[in-house]
Amino acid sequence: MATVFEMIISGDIPSTKLYEDDSVLVILDINPVEKGHSLVISKTVYEDFTQCPSAQLSHMMEIAQRVALKLKAELKCDGTNILINNGKASGQEIPHLHIHVIPRYDNDGQSFGFSKKSYEGDEIKEYGKKLAL
Ligand code: AMP
Repeated sequence: MATVFEMIISGDIPSTKLYEDDSVLVILDINPVEKGHSLVISKTVYEDFTQCPSAQLSHMMEIAQRVALKLKAELKCDGTNILINNGKASGQEIPHLHIHVIPRYDNDGQSFGFSKKSYEGDEIKEYGKKLAL
């Protein structure tokens, strides 16, 4: 079944478009964390970040940077979050690669709700060895 983003790309459902080129569409998120929250969507469907060719990822990040600069210039936000959810466990609702660009303000009261963990003993070294690229 087509994702909401495929239907937006095809024009079957409406969206507020900020930018479009051959491979990317940028729209306003319909339920923003803060007003101006934007989504940089790949026109080719990749389920998530891990599936996407690096050239397309680079292009999407370049556009996300332009969006972040625009949010800063126009909305005078104090910062931005650049976020990609990958997989249900991370909170991804729509399995179609997109980058969130979220304007943030000093003391805006928002939070990710993450709680931090600790490594025990030499665990951090073991993780370091296992994950070294
Ligand atoms: P994710 O959880 O990373 O998959 O994010 C999906 C995002 O898409 C959410 O922030 C939704 O608010 C947003 N969204 C869902 N439907 C629409 C829509 N029709 N137009 C714009 N944004 C949407």
